[in-house]
Amino acid sequence: MKLLDGIHLVASGYLGLSLSDPRDCNAYLLVGDGDSVLVDAGCGLGIEHTLALLRRAGAPDVSRVLVTHAHADHAAGACAVAERLGADVWASRAAAAVLEAGDAEAAGLTAAIAAGVYPPSVVLRPTPVARVIGGGTLDVGGLRLDAIETPGHAAGHLAFLAHHARGRVLFSGDAVFARGRVAVLATPDTDVVALAASVERLAALAPDMLFSGHGEPVMRDAAAHLAVASDAFRRQTLPPPLV
Ligand SMILES: [Zn+2]
Repeated sequence: MKLLDGIHLVASGYLGLSLSDPRDCNAYLLVGDGDSVLVDAGCGLGIEHTLALLRRAGAPDVSRVLVTHAHADHAAGACAVAERLGADVWASRAAAAVLEAGDAEAAGLTAAIAAGVYPPSVVLRPTPVARVIGGGTLDVGGLRLDAIETPGHAAGHLAFLAHHARGRVLFSGDAVFARGRVAVLATPDTDVVALAASVERLAALAPDMLFSGHGEPVMRDAAAHLAVASDAFRRQTLPPPLV
């Protein structure tokens, strides 16, 4: 599904637009001049839908799968998607440690399967990570993409800001969603204080558009959506929950 010139939604589950497997996060394709990247990969059960949407988008070769964090709905599909596309996986240091080990426990997958969130067919395969990224800037065929460290929802969480001709597009992963909602989980690597600082950092970027890891895309005035979350944290309260 085309969101902007060169930016397509290629996976989205029950919490979003139901394009692929219900457990999938939103995954985005960014198409530059002769190069493309994926932001997140889904849970692995909706790969054929995602690959079909990629083909329909007519993208040049996907060189990299950028993983925002190691939760299964974003990362369990990364290994298989990267293999099928001949792409590299890039992730933060903390996410890379979980992905390379295929550490379902650290990814929260073991507990989530026990809780019935995922079926046992969701598997975190050991996933080679070609490059560890923190902050810094990536080039996607002439499209500038800033990586932003945003821990809190999960350790080593990354967001990405694209400098698109139509404005600043924030790929926020699970740090913050439309209408200022957040996902605070009862998991060992959740850190609410770090999440508040991360949301503040993202709000300061004053993005025009917000394409988050779940839910609907925000096509204008995304800064107002981020302000809902940052205002709540400043009052030392929690923003509204994603679900
Ligand atoms: Zn998550």
